[in-house]
Amino acid sequence: MVVTTTSLPLFVLGQGVDPHSERGVDCPGELPPASDPELVARARKAKEALGDRLFVLGHHYQRDEVIQFADVTGDSFKLAREAAARPEAEFIVFCGVHFMAESADILTSDRQKVILPDLAAGCSMADMATFDQVEEAWEVLEDAGIAGVTVPVTYMNSSADIKAFCGRHGGAVCTSSNAKRALDWAFEQGEKVLFLPDQHLGRNTAVLEMGLSLDDCVVYNPHRPNGGLTDEQLRNAKMILWRGHCSVHGRFTAENVDDVRARVPGVNVLVHPECRHEVVTKADYVGSTEYIIKQLEAAPAGSTWAVGTELNLVRRLGAMFPDKTVMFLEKTVCYCSTMNRIDLPHLVRSLESLAAGQVVNQITVDPETTHWAKVALDRMLALP
Ligand code: SF4
Repeated sequence: MVVTTTSLPLFVLGQGVDPHSERGVDCPGELPPASDPELVARARKAKEALGDRLFVLGHHYQRDEVIQFADVTGDSFKLAREAAARPEAEFIVFCGVHFMAESADILTSDRQKVILPDLAAGCSMADMATFDQVEEAWEVLEDAGIAGVTVPVTYMNSSADIKAFCGRHGGAVCTSSNAKRALDWAFEQGEKVLFLPDQHLGRNTAVLEMGLSLDDCVVYNPHRPNGGLTDEQLRNAKMILWRGHCSVHGRFTAENVDDVRARVPGVNVLVHPECRHEVVTKADYVGSTEYIIKQLEAAPAGSTWAVGTELNLVRRLGAMFPDKTVMFLEKTVCYCSTMNRIDLPHLVRSLESLAAGQVVNQITVDPETTHWAKVALDRMLALP
């Protein structure tokens, strides 16, 4: 195979031209339009036919062709709460990934049906902690004599049964916005935290926001006996981090930060806390998706930003703030492949099926799991 390092014009997000960023994002070639006009019209018609019976949620990382049909956009937690605040909507179409639709089902009434347009839209991070693995890990902690003083905390980006596990064992859910508050709460309840499933969010919060050291953290590998740790390591640790990560945010490296600083004088580096510790420590600003959006909103005109989060969002922010230069932190394109599974054809199928009286791809969480997951979610909601 011949790989050409192309001379195609490559466009920085927002305005201007930067041949070193955003390879392949925009191209002057003969590409078909992103959205099939016929499908756009069909989606619009089905949505109109459903009226107030339908509420469409769009996660920030979704494609533009899908986002245009969202009644509200946001991060996973905001969207689940928005769904709960719409009891009149019979159908909640969640343009996001599986764990998000589960959370929406947990927080909405039994009368409401939550639909995920493509059932294959999972989350690689959430899949890195299965219920059986976490149960086994808890037994390891029991054998080490520390389960009684350990509080499990799971990131929102986890399956419903992991949230339920945390509810059942005195723990809570957290988001990237409230991880510090959740950990403060957890350390009031116990001496140690088992943090699931994102090691980076756990480590970044513990070390950068709570004053713990890297030596206070150990990484539990579910694929190794005893998590790859000795009982002594487990007993000495304050943070037991699950060995999971986001396949999108985990791609950014410290070299990416050095590279963009060398190429773009005065650039502000803004990253999500799901990025690796060495990336976060080199960045200028760190925060959740909502934080990133607010930071760019408030940024002065003419400022330049390299953003380390999912590409659909970074592109959209570039278009929203044309008076600022917004670029992707890494040179190569990096979409969330599972988020991107929700495309216009899948959305149209969901909407047209609903309009025809047929519910497809409904996500349901069983009552027992719903109960305990809600316990963990409610503990998060009660955080100061
Ligand atoms: S961006 Fe990362 S955490 Fe979010 S859905 Fe994709 S893989 Fe999961």
